[in-house]
Amino acid sequence: MRISVIGTGYVGLVTGTCFAEMGNDVVCVDIDKAKVKLMQSGRVPIYEPDLNVLFQRNIKESRLSFTTNLKDGVEDAEVIFLALPTPPGEDGSADLSYILGAAEELGKLLKQYTVIVDKSTVPVGTAEKVTESIKKYSKNKFDVVSNPEFLREGFAVSDFMKPDRIVIGTSSQKAINILQILYKPFVRQGNPIYFMDERSAEMTKYAANSFLAVKISFMNEIANLCERVGADVDSVRLGIGSDERIGKRFLFSGIGYGGSCFPKDVLALHRTAIANNYDFKILDAVTNVNTHQKLVLTTKITNFYSDELSNKTFALWGLAFKPDTDDIREAPALEIIEYLTRKGANVIVYDPEAMDNVKKVFNKNTKVKYAKNEYEALVGADALVIATEWAEFRSPDFNKLKKYIKDSAIFDGRNLYELNTMHQKGFYYESIGRGIIDGR
Ligand code: NAD
Repeated sequence: MRISVIGTGYVGLVTGTCFAEMGNDVVCVDIDKAKVKLMQSGRVPIYEPDLNVLFQRNIKESRLSFTTNLKDGVEDAEVIFLALPTPPGEDGSADLSYILGAAEELGKLLKQYTVIVDKSTVPVGTAEKVTESIKKYSKNKFDVVSNPEFLREGFAVSDFMKPDRIVIGTSSQKAINILQILYKPFVRQGNPIYFMDERSAEMTKYAANSFLAVKISFMNEIANLCERVGADVDSVRLGIGSDERIGKRFLFSGIGYGGSCFPKDVLALHRTAIANNYDFKILDAVTNVNTHQKLVLTTKITNFYSDELSNKTFALWGLAFKPDTDDIREAPALEIIEYLTRKGANVIVYDPEAMDNVKKVFNKNTKVKYAKNEYEALVGADALVIATEWAEFRSPDFNKLKKYIKDSAIFDGRNLYELNTMHQKGFYYESIGRGIIDGR
């Protein structure tokens, strides 16, 4: 099938590449000239495990190409995917200007029946708005489908190739037939494709992300209470997770959720509720809990040093909002850097993939230094702070840590280490919801 994908970010590039891998002819369109040039020269602009191999293979087989020219990009396309940003506007509602702007442009270009698929996360009613925007300029027949994407950064390729489910919102049988053919290779193991109306599909995505955000914030509140009553949140997590109604996943407490999706999607759903005169109390609470949770680690550090941080140096391991991505959007690490440097401390940071992105944000902050690896970040540090649970941080050489970290103090926002080990190795160790260890 001839497919276009508009927007080649984390979702669009994975979508385009995976459809090409199944034998489709895919053109990806992006307005970012530098990004398109990079991709045309055979380089993947983001870090996403397993993407590069598929990307290279499909370019070589001439099934995957890139352009900044929308007209060339959508020519002869049977299906056009919109994978454009939907960032929060000033009041928290999703900014639809990218989507509706692209829809108007498409209206001027459509020549034959086309299925326009909205893959971006968009509020209920957007499919209708996209339809109206296209109709302003086009007399051609087309269908607009809501097909929200559930991939996780860090697992994007495997999630796209073997999705738990595919949600397709449309009332058009013609569009259903086309998308069924397109998605068939991805559900060979029997995972479901759910067909529903556009509004329900749009709501499904927000409901999924908001529910996951609730789960995280709930566990973070339990962790905060565990600290106050002398319980261990990791034991509690195991104790509740074995109940199938609760499930083992997404129960890890930490320093709050970040990324480009959960924060903005919770806000946007809340705005939808307000716009419809509904007081969705949990959503407000979830955002507040998360805002507070992002400060939990810096509060621990401030207390430990009696608010005297001005001549301290901190090593910071992990910058991406989660492991296996270079994405730093809304990453808790950014707030930690801002807080510590505002208090006059120096921060030596290290992340396996996100260093370049962080350099762009803090290029004027002379208190931030960049290490080549996790151990180099420790040289001259008074304490270590851990913000992202990259696998390579899980089993470090504790003798090196002990040798380099002047105060033998570790503030771990991701509960990476056993409390007994930290005591035996002689560290002061604070994590989330597990009590303070002082083995010095
Ligand atoms: P992104 O910011 O990584 O990528 C968006 C891309 O669109 C960028 O490359 C940008 O240059 C391009 N773009 C902007 N305006 C354009 C235009 N007019 N024409 C062509 N290209 C244009 O965004 P993302 O993370 O891929 O997210 C896209 C959508 O998918 C959002 O609605 C998001 O909520 C949703 N989503 C994201 C994820 C995720 O994990 N990132 C998962 C599921 C759904």
